[in-house]
Amino acid sequence: MPYLNDMPLEARLAMLNRRDAGRQPQDILKPALALLAQKIALVSSFGAESAVLLHMVAQTATKTPVLFIDTMMLFRATLTYQKSLTKHLGLENVTHISPDPGRVFLQDNEGLLHQSNTDACCTLRKVEPLQQALTPFSAWITGRKRHQSTTRADMAIWEADETGRLKLNPLAHWSKDDINAYFETHNLPRHPLTDNGYPSIGCAPCTFRARPGMDDRAGRWPGQSKTECGIHLPVKPRNA
Ligand code: SF4
Repeated sequence: MPYLNDMPLEARLAMLNRRDAGRQPQDILKPALALLAQKIALVSSFGAESAVLLHMVAQTATKTPVLFIDTMMLFRATLTYQKSLTKHLGLENVTHISPDPGRVFLQDNEGLLHQSNTDACCTLRKVEPLQQALTPFSAWITGRKRHQSTTRADMAIWEADETGRLKLNPLAHWSKDDINAYFETHNLPRHPLTDNGYPSIGCAPCTFRARPGMDDRAGRWPGQSKTECGIHLPVKPRNA
């Protein structure tokens, strides 16, 4: 198959990116979900724009594994939305990923690590649990878009993570207008916080409203140089 063949990783990524350049997200997703089946997982925050990709996946294969990272620091509204959206879309294989309770007890028993060391907190509550959960998979899907921030402006459709696992960003080239149009066309329910000025929604202590005209992700860790939680830091692909 084109996704998991013997080509060196960089050549395989180049081939996939050439093939899928200019394709609509659904046309990128369908063959990937068909050929990779249970070897590919959608990682979703069930945040502001997550419903679009979740809907596309549900339209193609409702049993696609969906990994939802519950850091135990999310807004209550996100947990409620996750349940209702899963039911609305008919997704049949959503797994909740949580940080290891023993490690949380040792490193962040009071839930205040985010105040002193956001990188350590994200590693404990997001990066490590996701790495563990992705172990059985050869590829994963994210909902990132180039328009969300300057750090995502050059993002490819196909990337690799630090382990050499394929990472698919089918919405990479979609604009805010494309996303809004898809919500309207398919009458998708919005995360309740989007009406309150949150264009990007993560953990409650680290997510703030973004002022009009700012990047969608400007409300995430404002005042810090941090722009990513660590699960999407750029990596140099290595040959696999
Ligand atoms: Fe911790 Fe904030 Fe990262 Fe959530 S976003 S894991 S609360 S530092």
